[in-house]
Amino acid sequence: MDNTTAELEALLMQRSLTDADLQAAAEQAADFRIMPDATVIKIGGQSVIDRGRSAVYPLVDEILAARKTHKLMIGTGAGTRARHLYSIAAGLNLPAGLLSQLGASVADQNAVMLGTLLAKHGISVVDGAGLSAVPLFLEDVNAVIFSGMPPYKLWMRPAPEGVIPPYRTDAGCFLMAEQFGCKAMIYVKDEDGLYTANPKTSKDATFIAKISVDEMKAKGLHDSILEFPVLDLLKASRHIRQVQVVNGLVPGNLTRALAGEHVGTIITAS
Ligand code: ADP
Ligand code: MG
Repeated sequence: MDNTTAELEALLMQRSLTDADLQAAAEQAADFRIMPDATVIKIGGQSVIDRGRSAVYPLVDEILAARKTHKLMIGTGAGTRARHLYSIAAGLNLPAGLLSQLGASVADQNAVMLGTLLAKHGISVVDGAGLSAVPLFLEDVNAVIFSGMPPYKLWMRPAPEGVIPPYRTDAGCFLMAEQFGCKAMIYVKDEDGLYTANPKTSKDATFIAKISVDEMKAKGLHDSILEFPVLDLLKASRHIRQVQVVNGLVPGNLTRALAGEHVGTIITAS
């Protein structure tokens, strides 16, 4: 046992687990990236998959070409069917933890559909997206599909108001990228990126190419193109210090973003 471990162990025996000295001692070890060469991409539910073939087939082709040179962890969103479930369940006064399970079932469905399209290329869907088979799939076929909803289920931390689960698939995919220490996090949606207002309802909204979490909050855009808890997760991140939101309806955008190009909106932690 080296000195820092001994010091940490002594603190752990005496202090609360959130004690400042204990936290500092626990921070001594260098950060470790589990999957540093992989990029997490989230394929939007409402924004992409719900559009069906016209949106999904071109992305399937792009994914197949891209995985020749990139390692891809592909998460799926939920979308309109989840929103339908949320409206029924909220009307029945059911809690956030139950809605979380309902939402997860829709993200699962989308993972199954995407996985089926990619099956003949050897690309598989993993359950729960734990570590188990992910490294092997990435090593062998450079890609794996997972259901984007974080597996909090009944233990979903409720929002201060309402029963809609705050941590949904944007957050689930971000946490995969961050915890695995991945190379990048790319959100594939249906707009060129972040605008000053929702471009679907505000015709004079203007495009924002790059913005920090604090700037986004200052502009009142914290609840817009990404689920709002993602901003705080990003701000506190160790590995993923920026995410890019790209328009997946434009062929080539995903490929360019994977190559490190700035094609959509880059949201930075600081
Ligand atoms: P997903 O399919 O990944 O769940 P969402 O549909 O939840 O994606 O989020 C993308 C949508 O966010 C866009 O289609 C757009 O209508 C909406 N949106 C709201 N505010 C903004 C904004 N300020 N800039 C861009 N898009 C916004
Ligand atoms: Mg969404």
